[in-house]
Amino acid sequence: MASIKLDDLKKTYPGGIQAVKGIDLEVADGEFVVLVGPSGCGKSTLLRMVAGLETISEGKLCIGERRVNDLEPAQRDIAMVFQNYALYPHMTVFNNLAYGLKNRGFKRDEIQRRVEEAAKMLEIEAFLPRKPRQLSGGQRQRVAMGRALVREPAAFLFDEPLSNLDAKLRVQMRVEIKQLQRRLKTTSLYVTHDQLEAMTLGDRLVVLNEGRIEQVGTPMEIYARP
Ligand code: ADP
Ligand code: ADP
Repeated sequence: MASIKLDDLKKTYPGGIQAVKGIDLEVADGEFVVLVGPSGCGKSTLLRMVAGLETISEGKLCIGERRVNDLEPAQRDIAMVFQNYALYPHMTVFNNLAYGLKNRGFKRDEIQRRVEEAAKMLEIEAFLPRKPRQLSGGQRQRVAMGRALVREPAAFLFDEPLSNLDAKLRVQMRVEIKQLQRRLKTTSLYVTHDQLEAMTLGDRLVVLNEGRIEQVGTPMEIYARP
């Protein structure tokens, strides 16, 4: 595990749009921070910079003590969960989970151990031989989370992971993520526009507006109105 530190992080897109205008934030070791704010406020850009999927225009990004501004996504020791599952349709669930580890050169035994452990935790053991198209939406989202879990990363990034699910499943998965968080206590940065998700999951919420931090606090501090 490790902290995530953003020091005056900025993003200007080609064409001049300033999506992120100087963010200072530390997600502490083991802390779960939720980024909220209106559409277009820069949540996704910020998360993608941390993931290494978007270049950083200015500022410093550290995972643990290491400056990672110029590292490839795979070298950052973080794993990201997307809303659109991003599963390989032609591979079994097992191989979807194993793929990233194989690419990183992990040994067979270690891959087997990690895949089985993640599958058990997410209760998808029975689906390991199946293809994604044979799974329900909720099961696919669990596999997508499994792909992040098997990496055993220093931190998780979540990009609106539940926004494609129906309302009932969203509630269920929210509870499951909360339970996982309690067990694993992995440093997490989670983007959502869903207030209930933010309140349930966040140790701390960060409210963005027009590329800047507007408010930081516990769910109670942010949402409790007299
Ligand atoms: P959010 O995730 O909060 O909806 P985004 O980070 O997607 O916000 O977008 C922040 C701002 O950056 C918006 O004005 C958006 O139009 C702009 N933007 C996002 N991605 C790009 C891009 N690839 N090129 C240019 N502008 C972008
Ligand atoms: P190959 O690429 O050699 O055909 P696979 O990629 O299918 O092999 O599998 C690699 C490893 O994962 C093997 O050790 C295999 O036994 C194991 N494996 C594949 N599918 C499953 C599964 N559904 N449950 C448990 N282990 C599996």
